[in-house]
Amino acid sequence: MKTIRSIILPAFILFCGGFMHAQNNITEIEALLIKMTLEEKIGQLNLPGSGDVVTGQAKNSDIAKKIEAGMVGGLLNITSVEKIKEVQKIAVEKSRLKIPLLFGLDVIHGYRTTFPIPLGLSTSWDMELIERTARMAANEASADGINWTFSPMVDISRDPRWGRVSEGSGEDVYLGSEIAKAMVRGYQGDDLTKNNTIMSCVKHFALYGAPEAGRDYNTVDMSRIRMYNEYLPPYKAAIDAGVGTVMASFNEIDGIPATGNKWLLTDLLRKQWGFEGFVVSDYTGVNEMIEHGMGDLQTSSALALNAGLDMDMIGEGFLTTVKKSIEQGKISLAQLDNAVRRILKAKYDLGLFDDPYKYCDVNRAQTEIFTKENRHFAREVASQSMVLLKNENQLLPLKKSGTIAVVGPLANTKENMAGTWSVATIQNKSIALLEGIKTVAGDKVKILYAKGSNLTYDAELEKRATMFGKEINRDKRTDKQLLDEALKIALKAEVIVAALGESAELSGESSSRTNIEIPQAQKNLLKALLNTGKPVVLVLFTGRSLVLKEESKTVPAILNVWFPGSEAGLAISDVLFGDVNPSGKLTATFPQNVGQIPVFYNHKNTGRPLQNNDGKFEKFTSNYIDERNEPVYPFGYGLSYTTFKYDNLRVSSDIMNENDAIAVSVNVTNTGNYYGKEVVQLYIRDVIGTVTRPVRELKGFQKVALNKGETKPITFFISIEDLKFYNYDLDFVAEPGEFEVFVGTNSDDTQKTSFSLEMN
Ligand code: BGC
Repeated sequence: MKTIRSIILPAFILFCGGFMHAQNNITEIEALLIKMTLEEKIGQLNLPGSGDVVTGQAKNSDIAKKIEAGMVGGLLNITSVEKIKEVQKIAVEKSRLKIPLLFGLDVIHGYRTTFPIPLGLSTSWDMELIERTARMAANEASADGINWTFSPMVDISRDPRWGRVSEGSGEDVYLGSEIAKAMVRGYQGDDLTKNNTIMSCVKHFALYGAPEAGRDYNTVDMSRIRMYNEYLPPYKAAIDAGVGTVMASFNEIDGIPATGNKWLLTDLLRKQWGFEGFVVSDYTGVNEMIEHGMGDLQTSSALALNAGLDMDMIGEGFLTTVKKSIEQGKISLAQLDNAVRRILKAKYDLGLFDDPYKYCDVNRAQTEIFTKENRHFAREVASQSMVLLKNENQLLPLKKSGTIAVVGPLANTKENMAGTWSVATIQNKSIALLEGIKTVAGDKVKILYAKGSNLTYDAELEKRATMFGKEINRDKRTDKQLLDEALKIALKAEVIVAALGESAELSGESSSRTNIEIPQAQKNLLKALLNTGKPVVLVLFTGRSLVLKEESKTVPAILNVWFPGSEAGLAISDVLFGDVNPSGKLTATFPQNVGQIPVFYNHKNTGRPLQNNDGKFEKFTSNYIDERNEPVYPFGYGLSYTTFKYDNLRVSSDIMNENDAIAVSVNVTNTGNYYGKEVVQLYIRDVIGTVTRPVRELKGFQKVALNKGETKPITFFISIEDLKFYNYDLDFVAEPGEFEVFVGTNSDDTQKTSFSLEMN
């Protein structure tokens, strides 16, 4: 048996070791700071793009000269271990103080091995799986020289017009916070000094997901109480999980751009939340303060640095103006020193001072990237992210026999499978749907293929939607020729698989849309396919919630696959043919039309809620004269090839004391014909508050696997922490009184019980 001493002593030594290591770093940072010239200090704050340093002329390039002169703290967008090693060499062998560089990249949903877009990852509701994707991404990226990723993106958004919903985890603050933690853990692991962990950067701080009218980079204006309760927690969760860096967002908050917002970057982030890492601007965020109307580059740079921004990405506002501002007394030396300290600390934390080449192991680069095992895992993850939206008469899964017509502009495009923000993906190595179907279906199935239509009628829009090499190869044939070819093969098949929706760049950064339906060219193709009378399975590619009002009625089966990553075609086929039973659940509401936006499940009740559930219009209640309040598909929704029954919902006690936890249990039974996984969701409602509270809020979920006929009791524990919220004074409190509890298969299909919180 272990003695207490044998446990405590090593723990104490470990603690002391860690403490002393941290102390050593602080001493070394201070010693270094004393040696640095003003220019060298400002240089550490500079994060340029890699520019011509990647062309092989490293030694003579402009950037290389700057590195040598100590004018660069890190580099953005450089990949490959050889190049990175060459550049690091300039910093540690040629610059006066030999300070190593950070190498940052958008490793967003995988590196070369690419996982589903983040919105798709979130619909797996599987925290362990998500953490493993980040772990694998860190492993691959670090094997290629990268030590810093600009992920996770945790911006809550309720507006699918905004293209960047594809990069986040949807609309819910609780789920978003859990995912934020999982991603940070995955990237940073438990020890940043290892050579396969990398520093994570939570972004975009803050509220970037709430731009007016869903237009990217647009103004954000929000009450503090909403910020604290509904938008800020995922950033805080990442910080509590130990994220090393934070990226300031492009938008303004309370009239001041986040990049230069002292309340945000200092009062909230550092003083209230205790963040000790460094803050980087988003791209040219400092320069953009000029257009925001904050003043010229010197003024904007000074505002940003004084607000608490430490590193300036791309724009070189700090590099070119901070010295002057210091001389003029507009920035204090102390403020500059603090920024430098934080950046140096990150480099120490990563172990770069001990070994600046620790991420430059050519052998790792050759053996650990895009391996068979990694791709196998990506295939598994992708299949877990897919959401079955409709499956009339159990059209799915498909049989591995007969003839299948595969139709649509997204059926045979490798380049679009990884989706947006996949800068390290080797696009032509991704598996397109057609190829995947052929592989998974086997010899007994005859596969016919036709493109059927272009992505859109509008060639210009198609160009914008297929940037960065994600072409769909616009077909020169007429719309009629394309359609005729598709109908011809459709008539020869028993079932039609229609691969439609968005291309990779129809969502993502700077891809906001005012019309979020499937593009008309494809809608027309779909109608024609349905008119053949053959069963149609819609395989829907999308980076956002779409308006599917029409398709939800007319199409018998819809499988939402998001953008599944490098193994897309195989993973989709695994689900289509039933080798994997779909278990994804939506993390963002699918609206009836654009006019309903923002529509989200955890809204307030209002003083005039619509009381009926039969969809009838009621004058003078909070509804629309021309549309229902309910969305097409609610938050948490997703079907399976099997069915689940919920019963015997119970609470361990009707009264909860402030020091207790109560148990909420329910029995879940697999009542269908397939093994399957179900995401059991728990919501609460704080019935009466000192401020109005949402009609329900997610407070727990469990993804459970059930064999055919199996029943499992599922238990959630609710403690007072789960009942807390920010009140009018922004104190984080729980208030006594009644709480309703809802447990079920999605936010709109639940069973209800309740308990009361009593406080002394
Ligand atoms: C994006 C960030 C990204 C940065 C660096 C910006 O345009 O908003 O999300 O991390 O570029 O590539």
